[in-house]
Amino acid sequence: MIREVACPRCGRKTPFTPDNAWRPFCSERCKMIDLGAWAEERYRVPVESGPGDDTEDLKDRSQ
Ligand SMILES: [Zn+2]
Repeated sequence: MIREVACPRCGRKTPFTPDNAWRPFCSERCKMIDLGAWAEERYRVPVESGPGDDTEDLKDRSQ
């Protein structure tokens, strides 16, 4: 018998088994989104300047 839990992120039913590396999330994506959600609020990952540089905006905001 497979126990199922609802993914805390998207609510999709997902098997709560040792096979499911992302439990209780349904997928790596949902797990990463959930774990990253708080961090994203604090420090946005700076993007290295590249062609078509439009990251100045982000730098200015962090001051
Ligand atoms: Zn999910």
